Amino acid sequence: LVHNKLIELQGNIRVIARVRPVVQAELNSGEHREVVDCTTDEDLVVHRDSTTRTRFEFDRVCDQDSTQAQAYELVSPLVTSVLDGYNVCIFAYGQTGSGKTYTMEGPEDNRGVNFQAIAEMFSVAEERVEDVEYKFKFNMLEIYNETIRDLLGDSQLKQLNIRQTAAGNVVENLTEIQVGSAQEVFDAMNSGATNRSVGSHNMNEHSSRSHLVVCVMTSGVDKHNGIKSKGKLHLIDLAGSERISKTDATGDRLKEAQAINSSLSALGNVINKLGEKKPGHVPYRDSKLTQLLQDSLGGNSKVMMFVNLSPVSYNMSESLCSLAFAARCR
Ligand code: ADP
Ligand code: MG
Repeated sequence: LVHNKLIELQGNIRVIARVRPVVQAELNSGEHREVVDCTTDEDLVVHRDSTTRTRFEFDRVCDQDSTQAQAYELVSPLVTSVLDGYNVCIFAYGQTGSGKTYTMEGPEDNRGVNFQAIAEMFSVAEERVEDVEYKFKFNMLEIYNETIRDLLGDSQLKQLNIRQTAAGNVVENLTEIQVGSAQEVFDAMNSGATNRSVGSHNMNEHSSRSHLVVCVMTSGVDKHNGIKSKGKLHLIDLAGSERISKTDATGDRLKEAQAINSSLSALGNVINKLGEKKPGHVPYRDSKLTQLLQDSLGGNSKVMMFVNLSPVSYNMSESLCSLAFAARCR
């Protein structure tokens, strides 16, 4: 039921708010009053103070107790539609520490969307083996300070460019590997993650300041009539959305913050524009991320956005910014 409901919604973007449980660091901060209240499956309320509350509505709200399986179930229909020839993007948006990586990657013993999506794609392809022959390709990159880094192969340290072609935008020289099983993709993702940390002093800081983009491409040939289909799944763990005040950040830190800020607003602007009845000019060129995803955001493609939230007062102003971003996307 949930599946059908999500898939039948108007427009091509669906937004899921996911509130994580209170974490130890918040308990230690002393400002751990819980201010985000998941009131229904589709609504949450932020208690700004004892008298002011603001309500937000989403396609779905996942509360503190939601499991990885429950979160994945909401995106599963989109994932399998890739095998029918759709381009799909699944994003995690939110401030650093809000649960983006938990949702997408997840701990080793409790895997998130990325792993479940890839496992399901291969198992559905297997179920259809008598009717369709599928091939899979995989690539993985990050965008840091508006530069693209290949995370597979050995060109990781080179900066890659996007070229416009008749078939859409392509990243020049990006490593693309053929993969024959979910396990092969998991192995490639692991080595990509290792490459990601090369040259960074602090992996956590680095990952919170860059966008991680994992991409699985499928091509299918119908064994009965020869009809071909191509689909693409992009899984994106976005850089932390927190506002950084110009007085606190200088030099490299300020430059990073500005790059993140402008690419997240470019994403918001593109999604917002695509949601209009007659979109007209869509400003894809405003960021590397939107250029890269150009053929997976508009038209026939499907977009799912997780907005990850901390539940406590300490993070309330950032949560309200994330909620405002999400509300604008719908
Ligand atoms: P982000 O990637 O947005 O910076 P993380 O995914 O690293 O945030 O999450 C921050 C912390 O909160 C981690 O310790 C993570 O394990 C925990 N956490 C996030 N989401 C959940 C959740 N849904 N359930 C339990 N713990 C979570
Ligand atoms: Mg993270």
